[in-house]
Amino acid sequence: MQDIEVPVLIVGGGGCGLASSLFLSRQGIRSLLIERHPAPGRLPKARYVSQRTMELLRQFDVADRVYERSMPLEHISHIRWCTTLGGDGEMDRRTFYRIESFGGGSLAQHYAKDSPCESTLFPQVRMEPLLREMAAAEDKAQVLYNHQLQSFTQDEHGVTAVVLDRATDKEFRVRAKYVIGADGGKTVGPAVGAVLTGATDLAHMVTVYFRADLSQYWDDDFSMTTWFVNPEGGSWASGVLGQLGPTRFGRHSEEWMFHFSFRPDDPSRFEEASLLPRMRELLKIPDLTPDIIGIGHWTVEGVLADRYRWGRVLLAGDAAHRHPPTTGLGLNSAIQDAHNLTWKLAAVLKGQAHDSLLDSYEAERRPVAAANIQWALMTFQNHQLTDAGIGLVRGNAELSQANFRRYFADNQEGRTRRARLAQIMEVQRMEWQAHDIELGYHYDIGAVMPDGTPTPERDPLGQTYVPTTRPGHRLPHAWLERDGKKISTLDLVQPGAFVLLTGRKASGWAEAAAAVARKSGVPMAVVEISDEAAVRDTDRTWRYLRAVSADGAVLVRPDHHVGWRSMGRSDNPQGVLAAALSKILQREIAA
Ligand SMILES: Cc1cc2nc3c(=O)[nH]c(=O)nc-3n(C[C@H](O)[C@H](O)[C@H](O)COP(=O)(O)OP(=O)(O)OC[C@H]3O[C@@H](n4cnc5c(N)ncnc54)[C@H](O)[C@@H]3O)c2cc1C
Repeated sequence: MQDIEVPVLIVGGGGCGLASSLFLSRQGIRSLLIERHPAPGRLPKARYVSQRTMELLRQFDVADRVYERSMPLEHISHIRWCTTLGGDGEMDRRTFYRIESFGGGSLAQHYAKDSPCESTLFPQVRMEPLLREMAAAEDKAQVLYNHQLQSFTQDEHGVTAVVLDRATDKEFRVRAKYVIGADGGKTVGPAVGAVLTGATDLAHMVTVYFRADLSQYWDDDFSMTTWFVNPEGGSWASGVLGQLGPTRFGRHSEEWMFHFSFRPDDPSRFEEASLLPRMRELLKIPDLTPDIIGIGHWTVEGVLADRYRWGRVLLAGDAAHRHPPTTGLGLNSAIQDAHNLTWKLAAVLKGQAHDSLLDSYEAERRPVAAANIQWALMTFQNHQLTDAGIGLVRGNAELSQANFRRYFADNQEGRTRRARLAQIMEVQRMEWQAHDIELGYHYDIGAVMPDGTPTPERDPLGQTYVPTTRPGHRLPHAWLERDGKKISTLDLVQPGAFVLLTGRKASGWAEAAAAVARKSGVPMAVVEISDEAAVRDTDRTWRYLRAVSADGAVLVRPDHHVGWRSMGRSDNPQGVLAAALSKILQREIAA
């Protein structure tokens, strides 16, 4: 049996595994990725990519390539609820409500001030091939599709895995120092004994991915997703239609996906022949003849692994947590896991940090996943409120139809019903305007040196994000100027390196950082942001956001999160900086 030795074995070529491969390569770490399928997934699944994920992709030069291919923000700026797409009856093609989403429309300014990146729509069916191409182009990475993890054992020094090459049916051994289990929970977690607990089997869903020209039916180009609620479509009447582009958007989108739920006990959910009549009925387009590209079955659940680390094996993405798709936190948080984990693996493998730094991956990311799961479950449940708001009574088409008439009626009751739905949408916003959930997650325990300030209260409805340089939080974005060009504070953080942001040369931080970096072997850039320096805070936003004085300093980790800050000048800058870095990297660093 042939053997391969590699520092990191990545199991799974979904968004999490592929991002891990690319992130590791760009931080100088060799890896082998194995994916059991011969090619990237054929179903669109995740579509929404948040501002935060785009920031991570920007750090690794992926963002521009995504924006070149993805859907412009204006086309994902609304979510809509309608009766039907076709038909010409009294209740057909009526819009119950339209809500702004994802930083589009009037939300644009509010979102733009907090990030250099816009959110976008880029289905997984296109994200994975792009990440695969970029990951495989790196010298440090080997990316093998059609290769499946069969089994593995671990000892004090590493992991030995048996991998099957499915094309030749031959097995080979891989010896790795660490394994990232990014396999969606199929093999690695069960093998180490991971237990995922939470809510399961909440709904049984079918997704039909198809090509069709639907332009004649639409009257807008801005709805990323539309809920269709046609009570004539049967007792489980509702379906969700989402546009997918790829080259034309809005009503001219060439591809679409349609999700609908079946009763869990309905055997016809697995019969392909039953799906098209169902779609025709729900959309009320009897002659719809889509070119079906793929069909997927999935269940809605909200589960979290009891642990993320088993010795040299670390779980990430869907292998560690799975959420309802409401709020779009799945792939986004899977890529965020990869971002958190890979800088730590790189630091440990380069001898810059103690192995115990890897414990902070679970300490930091698991609470975020736990909160995301609850958020996604709540936003999933919010749809019951919307159903009530429009008057949908599942299982009773007659009553639903009567309620819909009442909703649209030009009388006092109609106005009351519409006002009630508008109030409900103040809650529903949690799903599509979760700006703080997306940007404001932070780490109170882990690879951070707390400064004793209390955790700030967050907006309970997840919308208002408050930037802060408090340790554990994401470095706030502010536009700066360097060589006449606009850059973000986040652009100052290079892959695999710390950066110390200072405000005044005389404060002594630059000399301290250079000495600590030299002694510890940890790369640390120093950036002075001042009117006299190369990087200038021309619009004064950073001065307001940094919270520390001009003589203070903010130490930012390679993943954009603040590790430590000094509110002002220190008598012993080298000593305090070395102490902070020791705490973050879990090793003794002498001043
Ligand atoms: C309908 C739907 C809509 C969604 N919408 C969104 C959204 O808008 N935004 C969002 O962020 N998320 C969304 N999600 C969630 C998102 O799809 C997942 O969270 C995401 O795919 C997780 O990525 P991953 O890489 O962790 O796992 P996966 O994508 O599951 O990838 C795991 C990979 O591991 C491979 N594998 C498994 N076992 C082995 C083995 N033994 N050897 C080798 N390879 C193996 C699998 O073949 C697979 O390719 C949605 C999900 C669904 C179903």
